[in-house]
Amino acid sequence: MKKDKEIVKAIHDDKLDTFLKSIKVYDDLIAGKIKCKFCGDPVTIDNLYTVFPESGAIKFACDKAACIAKMNIYLSEH
Ligand SMILES: [Zn+2]
Repeated sequence: MKKDKEIVKAIHDDKLDTFLKSIKVYDDLIAGKIKCKFCGDPVTIDNLYTVFPESGAIKFACDKAACIAKMNIYLSEH
């Protein structure tokens, strides 16, 4: 599990904005059009925890403890 957390932390740093712009979701994120995969709430730059690929699409997770826990389970199963 320690390894997973390090990957998440590596993504969620100052390079995140650049990454989000590169995959063309930054504007949607600012506009509140992105939803958390796990709870369905809007994800913005303020509560974005991490992003991860699923079936060729990029999914988002907010920073609620419950969603972080679900994401860690999800990542360990995929
Ligand atoms: Zn969530």
